[in-house]
Amino acid sequence: MDAITSYPLLEINLNKISDNTNFLVNICEEKGINIAGVIKGVNAEPQIVNVLAQGGCKYLASSRIEQLINLKEKNIEQETMLIRMPMKHEIKDVVKKIDISLNSEIKTINLLEKECKKQNKSHKVVLMMDLGDLREGFFDKEELIDIALYIENNLKYVKLYGVGTNLSCYGSIKPSYENLNYLCEVAQEIENKIGRELDMISGGSTTSLPLVLDDNIPEKINNLRIGEALLVGRDLIDYWGYDLDRMHKDTMILKAEIIEIKEKPSYPIGEMFLDAFGNKPTYQDRGIRKRAILAVGRQDFVNDRDLVPLEKGVEIIGSSSDHLIVDIQNSEENFQIGDIMSFGMFYSNALYLTSSKYVNKHYIQLEELETKII
Ligand SMILES: *Cc1c(COP(=O)(O)O)cnc(C)c1O
Repeated sequence: MDAITSYPLLEINLNKISDNTNFLVNICEEKGINIAGVIKGVNAEPQIVNVLAQGGCKYLASSRIEQLINLKEKNIEQETMLIRMPMKHEIKDVVKKIDISLNSEIKTINLLEKECKKQNKSHKVVLMMDLGDLREGFFDKEELIDIALYIENNLKYVKLYGVGTNLSCYGSIKPSYENLNYLCEVAQEIENKIGRELDMISGGSTTSLPLVLDDNIPEKINNLRIGEALLVGRDLIDYWGYDLDRMHKDTMILKAEIIEIKEKPSYPIGEMFLDAFGNKPTYQDRGIRKRAILAVGRQDFVNDRDLVPLEKGVEIIGSSSDHLIVDIQNSEENFQIGDIMSFGMFYSNALYLTSSKYVNKHYIQLEELETKII
């Protein structure tokens, strides 16, 4: 491995992401489900995208059209899927460079048709059904069915590719056999009316995986759009109580350098007002504690709540834009100035850290490290 001299550093283990991808692609395949690998959570880092593509994701998906356009220019063979409804100014590129888009507005679909005609090109759409999470999608199933028939019967260039749904987002609604089965019933009704099968019945994201693992996902679901579980693998395990020993949690590790170690009171001194971000945090008086400051901050990881110290006895106590403060009183390690500490993370941190230009990235290539499951 190259000597690494510059911190903060995000160490990205492609080996582990590859293992996670193979594992999930396989268990989904057994249920007749293919995976759209969602790459927005890692800023579409090319090496990671490559691992998802090699690992058997049938589609590559993002809500950011720029990330997908870049892929096309790299000649990746997977079909691309835009998973946020297109904006007006994106229509031209959607038709030109994206294979599939999620849609919920007739106005946009008509714009797509018009642009397709201009470019003499077809484009596939997946109609989104809102099953109660109240983010995107048709709330009324009859309306969705009408639009599906309209596309099938009246549009020449826009092709009805399937239906989909998004859950556990705005409304934190859990995917269940019942709500996903409702989507399947809507799909069946459309299929009966158009006299052919839909290509895609897309049953959500990472949070639909527990249904796959429990063998409780409706049979008709044939696609999931997965980002987090492939890329970080921690939310699923820690938030949802699924301890999958075949999944790696530490696909990405933040490494940061200690720039101060001192013993200080744990309760601030003086009149308490606001912190650097206008909040009024509460502090617990634990007496004098040994703490360290690391040179990385909220500009890089945004929230410290979801960072996971990997050294024993280290506890995050706060952060500002450029500093992360940890309590090391209970650590048995003899930390020194200049030492490096490691942190695992949840999806949100990966999202921010991969996008921060102040964080260097180091890739551990396939087989560079032993396959150790943390
Ligand atoms: C982000 C997103 C996903 C992927 O979600 P994960 O939790 O990362 O699996 C799937 N579908 C849509 C519409 C999204 O916006």
